[in-house]
Order: sequence, then structure tokens, then C-alpha cells
Amino acid sequence: MNPVELIHKKRAGSALTRQEILWLLDGYVAGRIPDYQMSAFLMAVCFRGMTEEETSALTDVMLHSGVVVDLSEVPGIKVDKHSTGGVGDKVSLILAPMVAACGVPVPMISGRGLGHTGGTLDKLESIPGFRTDLSVEEFRKVIAETGLVLIGQTAQIAPADRKMYALRDVTGTIESVPLIAGSIMSKKLAEGIDALVLDVKTGDGAFMRNYEEAESLAKALVAIGTRAGKRVVAFLTEMDQPLGMAIGNWVEVMECVECLRGKNIADLMEVTFVLGGAMVWLGGKAASVEEGMQQCRSAIWSGRAYQKFLEIVRRQGGDSTLLEHPERYRKPQYTAELTSQVAGYIQSFATRRIGVLATELGAGRQKAGDVIDATAGIVLKKKTGDRVERGSIIAEIFSDRKEVVESVRNELASCITVGNGPVQLRPRIRSIVDSQGVTPWSTPQVH
Ligand code: URA
Repeated sequence: MNPVELIHKKRAGSALTRQEILWLLDGYVAGRIPDYQMSAFLMAVCFRGMTEEETSALTDVMLHSGVVVDLSEVPGIKVDKHSTGGVGDKVSLILAPMVAACGVPVPMISGRGLGHTGGTLDKLESIPGFRTDLSVEEFRKVIAETGLVLIGQTAQIAPADRKMYALRDVTGTIESVPLIAGSIMSKKLAEGIDALVLDVKTGDGAFMRNYEEAESLAKALVAIGTRAGKRVVAFLTEMDQPLGMAIGNWVEVMECVECLRGKNIADLMEVTFVLGGAMVWLGGKAASVEEGMQQCRSAIWSGRAYQKFLEIVRRQGGDSTLLEHPERYRKPQYTAELTSQVAGYIQSFATRRIGVLATELGAGRQKAGDVIDATAGIVLKKKTGDRVERGSIIAEIFSDRKEVVESVRNELASCITVGNGPVQLRPRIRSIVDSQGVTPWSTPQVH
């Protein structure tokens, strides 16, 4: 086989065989196929897509590029969650300790920032000392002892995704159903779970901007997981504005700490409670998603979820004192405020562009190997539908890059529309997809 021929074949729209996909990915992980040829192949996939058989072969090859962890000796139904990616999407950091505090073991393998979206690993690593590169043995030990473990793809677990993910981040090759499905499901099936809850985002800040594309992605993810013998449900959730208020790494960790301590940021906590409730239900600790949501709320209100977060931070080497004393954390060198020029109501956010601006401030990578600035980011003071007066602060901007702060502030102003009339908000969670099909979702009120 020859890499150029396989790139040509995909570029012409033909389907690759399982053997061809295996040869290409094996060669890439082993270093025989260079980044530039893999980038060309990924771009061809973005344009030409893959058949169901190819997507299934891709996922399988990526999964078996490393160890598939067996957690059968850990008691309980192991459940994880994964999001297809969004701006300000920090749900995992609140949800994982919350669900673990409800007695459901959560072995979680996450990714770094991808394109304009943030990544759980970069957020966790903004806590000094936090290790996301545990060995397989450490991974097993931590989940067995604490009921929770938070790592990234490693040289041992899902190494193909580790390399391809970093390459896709900086080559404009993210938006593709087969590539996203292979990436997500290979790491999720490698981590020893019994069930999985997916958050498939739709809207301007998501990779699948329109609802129909997002639904196709959700169905593909559920089908792959179900074929692998796992119980999988996916929720289709709105990404038409940043989730919560903070966009960046340390600023998002701080927002999560506030929520773990009981603050209710409505859109963020609705998604967190629904996904968490579904995990508790799939984990066999509740009779319904609603009952699972109630347990999640009580894990937050009792302080158990926050204590579990502090425990896992310490267990994985992080300095938990900074979570309790954030005033000791390094400060960004430059800050700026964006104020409204007019009175009215926030009509909309150009969410994708806001994610890109956070990257420019230093919160994400623009080329391979870029070092993240943990303190860089944007904190919104208003959300869609909120009233603003002339001069109201809409957002704060943080960065060590003096040269970009002013341009980001100007561009951010053009990303936020203020208009006269009040705004009709769309439901944040649109539907639920399982192996039986798609059902409209309405979030139950739980107290
Ligand atoms: N999350 C992943 O893990 N991979 C993708 O490709 C997109 C979101």
C-alpha cells in the first residue's frame, strides 16, 4: 500500500477497506506516515465523508491502536459522558465528581481544546500539578479507590486519537461525522465503561451547526456504542451562545468551583443536571433520569460533589488549595472590559467567533505545540435575553498578550448583538436519541 494512493482514493470519493484504514493509521501512530500526509487524508475525509462500514472500521482501528481497559473488577456500572464540543462547555468538570458522589463510577478520558472549542484536559491542567497522563495501572487504581478518574488519550490508551486529534485541531479538519465519531467512540470504548451519555451540540458554536447534521452525528455515535454492547443515550443541546459565563481554562475551572459550591448558572446547570441524571439512571442508582437529577442536586447541595472534586484534584497531583484560595493564582497581565454602547436586550452571540477570540487571547492553540495561557479568556456578564443599559459591562477580557487585547475587545463587540425587543429563548435541550430513535425532550423541574 501507498499513502499517496490512499489519499487519492479517498479524494476521489471511494470507500477504503478496513485493511487500508488499518495500514494508514498503524503507519501514522508508528511514525512511518508523516503529519502532512495524514492531514491530506483527513481533509479528503472532511470533503468526501465515509460510509457506515468505513466509519465503523475507523473507530475500531482507532480503539485497538492501544489498550482496551477492562474495569470488570471495579464494582458498579461504569458510566461516562462526552460532549461533541462547544464554547464555554465545562460540564464535565462539574458533572464527573457530582455523578461519582452519587455512587456511579466515572472513568473519563477527555480531549484538549479542539478548534474554537475548549477541552477538559486543558482546563484540568490549568490546576498546577494536575496529571492527566496516568498510566493504565494508575488509571485503574484511581478509579478503584475514588470512583472517578480524569485523563486524556495517552501513548497507551487511544494513541491514534491522541495524534489525529492534535493534528485535526490545527489543520481545519474537525467538522466531519466519521472523524468526530471515530475520535469520541474510540476513547470512550477504550476506557472500560458499561454505558455512555453524549452531549451532541448544535448551533453556531458547535461543529455541527444545523440540527439535522447534529442529529445524524448523534445517531452515528449511538449506533457505534450500541453495536459495541454499551447502553448509550445522546442529548441534542443548544450551542447558540457560550455555555455559562466563562470561556477559557482557569476562568472555567473557577466557574465550576462556584457551581459545585451551589451557584445556579441556569443554562450550565440544566445541561449538567440532565446529563448527570441520565448517568445516575444508566448507572442503576435511579429509576429515571428525573430521579437521577434529584440525586445530582442533592450531591451538590450537600457539598459531596465539591468534596469529590477536591479529592480527585489532590489524588491526581493537583494543588487543591488554589481552588479554595483563587486569589493566590497567577493573574493575567492585561484585562479589559467591554461595555454596551446602547440600551436594550442581548439578542445573540456569534459563538464560534467568540471561541476563536478566546484562542487568540491564548486559551487555545493556533499551531501544533502552542503553549496555552491558563489565565487567558473571556468572562461574560450578560447572556441572551438579558437587559443592558448604555455603559453596562457585557464582558471582561484576560490575556498576557498586550497586542491582542484591544483588537479582541473590538471584535467581541461585533459578536454580541443588542436590540430593542425582549428575546424568546429556545429550549436548551432539544431531544434525546437512543437505540430506539429520537424523542423531543422537556426538562423536568426537580427541587
Ligand atoms: N470530541 C472529541 O473527542 N473528538 C472530536 O472529534 C470532537 C469532539
